[in-house]
Amino acid sequence: MIRIDSVTKRYPDGTVAVDGLSLEIPDRSITVLVGPSGCGKTTTLRMINRMVEPSEGTILLDGTDIRAQPVNTLRRAMGYVIQNAGLFQHRTIADNIATVPRLLGWGKQKSRARAAELMERVGLDPALAKRYPYQLSGGQQQRVGVARALAADPPVLLMDEPFSAVDPVVRKGLQDELLRLQDELGKTIVFVTHDIDEAIKLGTMVAVLRTGGRLAQYARPADLLTAPADAFVEGFLGTDRGIRRLSFFGTGDLELLTAPVVTADATAEQLARAADDAPYLLVTGPDGRPLGWAEPDGLTAGAVDPGRLLPCGRPFEHGAESLRAALDCAVLSPTGWAVAVDGTGKAVGVVSQQTIGEAIRAAHAEGRPTAEVAG
Ligand code: ADP
Repeated sequence: MIRIDSVTKRYPDGTVAVDGLSLEIPDRSITVLVGPSGCGKTTTLRMINRMVEPSEGTILLDGTDIRAQPVNTLRRAMGYVIQNAGLFQHRTIADNIATVPRLLGWGKQKSRARAAELMERVGLDPALAKRYPYQLSGGQQQRVGVARALAADPPVLLMDEPFSAVDPVVRKGLQDELLRLQDELGKTIVFVTHDIDEAIKLGTMVAVLRTGGRLAQYARPADLLTAPADAFVEGFLGTDRGIRRLSFFGTGDLELLTAPVVTADATAEQLARAADDAPYLLVTGPDGRPLGWAEPDGLTAGAVDPGRLLPCGRPFEHGAESLRAALDCAVLSPTGWAVAVDGTGKAVGVVSQQTIGEAIRAAHAEGRPTAEVAG
């Protein structure tokens, strides 16, 4: 665990960048420092690897003052990733990634092998190994930056706005990749960003800092959205807090209706039975995938014309996606009902806005999220 204990940083010109900050950063999780520009995020991160020394207070790593060991030993335990990746332009990708292993005296072959392994880990085509940074896209360079930071397998990863310079689509890919990597590697990650949505998506814990380097709130993302500590945090979180918070609740407990799901070749009897349960029927193809909605009296047994169905829009994956995703499906659906599918895309049931609303009320009553889910 990293413990920041009453740390203040006053730069020589008198600027107080961080003011009396205390934080406990748990192991094997992503802790995000977020706040407006100039609130002391980078200074805090750099104090952890001693690129900046605190004016007051101490930082402990696993209970020991970080000043107790040589700074090089400390930094070997901490990978560091920055915006624009900070790659050596005159070195190949493989050599960039192998920088720290080489410094540690690993042989050429072992370092190369490690670089190749890491390129695969971070989703880079091994064919890029011999290229130079300028021959890669921004997103690819950022992956190289992550691979380089991971090369000597440090327990701690410090990341300073690592995805800020890439476009939103690439950025989302990098965020997803980081979450996947973290599932595999279980590093202690401290991540700096000014983007609250990135903080909410990536953070196990989120520290919101305000200008002057003071801690405004330290909480789990869902708890931040539920109960911002003050008007500053609330303003920083922005609109749609309630809707965004639904991302933290699963759909595994949502009760689905299966009776209204019929196949395109359903018999008259099957159609009649299905119509008892819902105002609309969901018609599926031979593979079980949803084709579209129909009003019960608009269907002719054995002769359903898929071209005349109402579109069913995007379904949600039952259990894997969040209440937010289910609500979005229902809101966008022409019938007001959401379609649930399994991991293979087969329809497993339908659910009304009313049922989703009840699940939302239950989630609010419960106060805390039940599941960590995506989307
Ligand atoms: P953030 O990462 O949140 O944008 P920083 O930690 O970079 O914030 O900076 C916090 C404050 O400290 C800012 O007001 C910044 O101008 C100031 N600052 C940062 N580095 C120095 C420095 N080397 N000397 C003087 N002031 C600095």
